[in-house]
Amino acid sequence: MTETKELIRTGWNLDNSYAQLPKSLFTRTNPTPVHSPKLVVLNHTLATCLGLNVRALQNDDSLEEFAGNQIPVGSSPIAQAYAGHQFGHFTMLGDGRAVLLGEQITPSGERFDIQLKGSGRTRYSRGGDGRAALGPMLREYIISEAMHGLNIPTTRSLAVVTTGESVIRETEQPGAILTRVAASHLRVGTFQYVAEWGNIEELRTLAEYTLQRHFPEVADDKPYLSLLKEVIKRQATLIAKWQLVGFIHGVMNTDNMTLSGETIDYGPCAFMDTYDPATVFSSIDVRGRYAYGKQPQIAAWNLARFAETLLPLLHDNQDEAIKLAQDAISDFTELYHSNWLAGMRAKLGIFNEEPEDESLIEGLLTIMHKYHGDYTNTFRGLTFDKFSDMELFDTSEFAQWREQWQSRVGRQQESKASSQQLMQRSNPAVIPRNHRVEEALEAAVKHGDYSVMDRLLNVLSCPYAHSPEQGEYSILPGKSERPYRTFCGT
Ligand code: AMP
Ligand code: MG
Repeated sequence: MTETKELIRTGWNLDNSYAQLPKSLFTRTNPTPVHSPKLVVLNHTLATCLGLNVRALQNDDSLEEFAGNQIPVGSSPIAQAYAGHQFGHFTMLGDGRAVLLGEQITPSGERFDIQLKGSGRTRYSRGGDGRAALGPMLREYIISEAMHGLNIPTTRSLAVVTTGESVIRETEQPGAILTRVAASHLRVGTFQYVAEWGNIEELRTLAEYTLQRHFPEVADDKPYLSLLKEVIKRQATLIAKWQLVGFIHGVMNTDNMTLSGETIDYGPCAFMDTYDPATVFSSIDVRGRYAYGKQPQIAAWNLARFAETLLPLLHDNQDEAIKLAQDAISDFTELYHSNWLAGMRAKLGIFNEEPEDESLIEGLLTIMHKYHGDYTNTFRGLTFDKFSDMELFDTSEFAQWREQWQSRVGRQQESKASSQQLMQRSNPAVIPRNHRVEEALEAAVKHGDYSVMDRLLNVLSCPYAHSPEQGEYSILPGKSERPYRTFCGT
């Protein structure tokens, strides 16, 4: 049977609204062609959500598009300009190894950035080669998809192609390009760039664009203050979700904080096994600036930098503007805290609120810290009344705490069964544990075997299922696999 052309259309429906913004915000840049690309991962579910045809995405034309050798119909590729505070130091950045192909308008009318990461040098590459290595791109794929499975807002991964070229990092590695999908790539750093080097008209245009794109419901007489407050709200929600699953971003620079409230930039991130607020995985974070327990505080710091960029739009009088910004920023702590507390109650099967809940939660965290309890498995144990295999469960402190907790859970209308269901929905059976991620990457990168990664992605796609095949993924790393280290040179 011959297939009609219509049936195998890829489904690209690209718009380029960002390219209508002031010219200083981007540079028109095509990806640099690569030698011999090969498609190694394709996200079928995401492709379908985007209105793309999975079969067409597997043909040669699509491969050339994922590799940057051809430009999809309707695309007008650009590299975005942005700045950022990196470990506290302000600097000019921009897409140094990425291009935005355009914004895919989905069948339901949503708009998503389609970006190639690792697509070659741009005006913003500074000393870099503009490329990416296969391991880190697969790692971003796995962890971003895991975050999505955990119901945490995140950029997503549509495809990974190998380039047939090598990149030099500490060693020579196979090169790759990731197709990243995001609500947008607007960052705190985008505003910092305009505030530092642009003018007030450009700033206003960027703020209007951000409002339209992410907060179209804002329709009051102080839209820019509302923009600030909405971004603060989204970040308070996001960071609480990170804390609740033990996710450590690792490089919370202001250029890596989106305005959409999605997690972005999976460089040195990792999930915490043993509960310890001081946990840091990134080899370059020697002072623990981005440690697990510091993430809320760092988010507030980043948001204060965002607020500063908006000052000229908030009020004609600078003192008034500062006051408005400060009030908004001081709300972050409370918003974050109430999100976190609500999430922790759910993790403990608690539906209603009592003033003592927070000390109950803190009590558990203290025991976990003291006895080096595994964060995820402690909550799993509580969910299924399985109190074996961890030292902390054998302690008298835990026995005492458990009694307190059980009487707390008993003081609500909901049945024990619905409380247990709430816990099941709130405590993942599986997180992308570092040793399992490494195992998947090693099979893929060293041996071209993607089956380990496929299996991992499969269990990570529904982490609250608590299915039998997820059991083995809760096994902790052996002593030799700790402490785990992540690297920025990706
Ligand atoms: P990141 O640490 O991934 O957030 O990147 C920080 C900045 O470095 C961004 O401006 C990136 O575009 C840029 N960058 C990272 N890796 C490379 C590379 N290999 N070549 C050029 N620019 C890069
Ligand atoms: Mg970045």
